[in-house]
Amino acid sequence: MSQPTENTVPTVTLNNGVEIPQLGFGVFQIPPAETQRVVEDALEAGYRHIDTAAAYRNEAGVGAALAASGIRREELFITTKLRNGEQGEASDAFNRSRDALGLDYLDLYLIHWPVPSQGLFTGAWKEMEKFYADKSIRAIGVSNFLSDHLDTLLAASEIVPAVNQIEIHPTFQQQDLAANNRSLGIAVEAYSPLGQGADLTAAPVEALAGKYGATPAQVVLAWHLAQGTIVIPKSSDSTRMRENLAAVSLTLTPAEVDEVSALESGGRIGADPAVAAFTQM
Ligand code: NDP
Repeated sequence: MSQPTENTVPTVTLNNGVEIPQLGFGVFQIPPAETQRVVEDALEAGYRHIDTAAAYRNEAGVGAALAASGIRREELFITTKLRNGEQGEASDAFNRSRDALGLDYLDLYLIHWPVPSQGLFTGAWKEMEKFYADKSIRAIGVSNFLSDHLDTLLAASEIVPAVNQIEIHPTFQQQDLAANNRSLGIAVEAYSPLGQGADLTAAPVEALAGKYGATPAQVVLAWHLAQGTIVIPKSSDSTRMRENLAAVSLTLTPAEVDEVSALESGGRIGADPAVAAFTQM
């Protein structure tokens, strides 16, 4: 499969007209000391969309890589997220993230988790709406929001989130939540899109990889892309990063998408957003 350039990654148009590259690069669990090197490798491979978070403690490494790359700002799409423990100080938290990344503006800023027990996310959203209004952020969104959290947010807000970033991979698809997001005009972004590697050995995935001369990761990523989902796989390995990016060249048939979808087993990897209340994230 040929190596794509950044120009061949399709974009998804968000509900405010902003275009997001459909395949980006996630940096969760990349140690701060390694982040600059890993993100430089990702940019070199052709990624232009990077997904970080204040909670990952590696925004500065992402920023160092962006600065060192010399890539024009308008070619990049940079996402970071508001830490749970900072929902009551969203303005200061946003400014800290922007400074750590060394950017004038963010492309996408997300509330990382709803933490409904805190009762703070609508207040945080109002602060984010101000940064959106003054063009410090091109699009604002949420992550780990279930439908009732979205209902609460929408009832109290002016702006409909552009994105909901949620756990989605073949064995855990959240199809009802994804459909509800789409019906509200909220783009669906899959985190842990490879099931953190665990979904790569499933028989239908391996069979399709064999059929197409692709890798299992490419099959799983092509399955997401075929459904219009935004994906942000993580890899610290430059060969696997390139392999993952090349998934944009693989098109599955609707029947093949269904074969992978049949792997649904309800197995969540991350925390349940209904009850997750950790403040360190
Ligand atoms: P992924 O599903 O992206 O899987 C990453 C794992 O798969 C790593 O162990 C990686 O190992 C391995 N891997 C990557 N590519 C391949 C490949 N081609 N073949 C075999 N193994 C591979 O999991 P993540 O949880 O990292 O999710 C991706 C991103 O989503 C995060 O980095 C983060 O940006 C975001 N995220 C957001 C959350 C939220 O709450 N909003 C929660 C979790 C993630 P190796 O590095 O050695 O290649």
